[in-house]
Amino acid sequence: MTALPAAIPRSPTMSAMPARHPTSPAVYAGVDLGATKIEVVVTGADLVPAAQARAATPLRGGPPAVVTAIKAAVEEALAASPHASLTAVGAGVPGQVDDSTGAVAKSPNIRGWTASYPLRAELGDKLGVPVAVDNDVRTALLGEHRLGAAAPYGDVLAVWFGTGVGGALLLDGVVRRGRLGACGEIGHACASPGGRRCACGRRGCLEAYAGRG
Ligand SMILES: [Zn+2]
Repeated sequence: MTALPAAIPRSPTMSAMPARHPTSPAVYAGVDLGATKIEVVVTGADLVPAAQARAATPLRGGPPAVVTAIKAAVEEALAASPHASLTAVGAGVPGQVDDSTGAVAKSPNIRGWTASYPLRAELGDKLGVPVAVDNDVRTALLGEHRLGAAAPYGDVLAVWFGTGVGGALLLDGVVRRGRLGACGEIGHACASPGGRRCACGRRGCLEAYAGRG
C-alpha cells in the first residue's frame, strides 16, 4: 500500500479540519496497520515519501499496545524525515471502520482486538494531530486512484489477495462505503454454492478459494 498518504487530503473529515500550522507546509504520516507489521511513511504536501519506518504489530496488549506502537513508528519516521512536525495522520486498518466515529470494530486479523475501539480518537490524542482512519482496502484504493494504477479511471473495482480477499469500489471518482460500510468487499461473495468451508463459517466464499488463509 505504497500510496496510503493520498487518503489524507481526500478525506472529508480531514479536509474539514484546519491545519495546526496553517502557514507551514503540510506534513503527513500514512500508517498501514497489518496483522504482523505496522508500516509508516512520512510525506510533505507533494505526497512523495520522505522517510519510512516499520514495526512489528504487538501480539499482546490489544488496541492500546497497537496505538503505542503506531505512535513510536510515526515518531521514528518523522525523525528520519527532513520535517519537524506533523499536520495530520491517515491510517488504513484491517477491519470495519465506523466513518462517523473512527472506531474500528472487532478485528480478527489483529490479536487482542476483541471489541470496537475508538482508534481515531486514541491515536489523535497520542499524536496531537488530526487523524483519519479507514479500512485498509479503501485507503489503498484511494492511494491507487490518487497516485497509482487507478489514477486515469473514475470507476474502479480493486481486489487485493492476501490472507483474505479484500475489495473496494470507486464510482465516479468516489470510493463508495455502502450502507453497511462494506461496499466492494467481495471476499465473502459465494463463488461455489455448498463448496469449501470459509473462515466466516459459510461455504463456497471466494475467499475460501482465492485467499491464503
Ligand atoms: Zn466467507
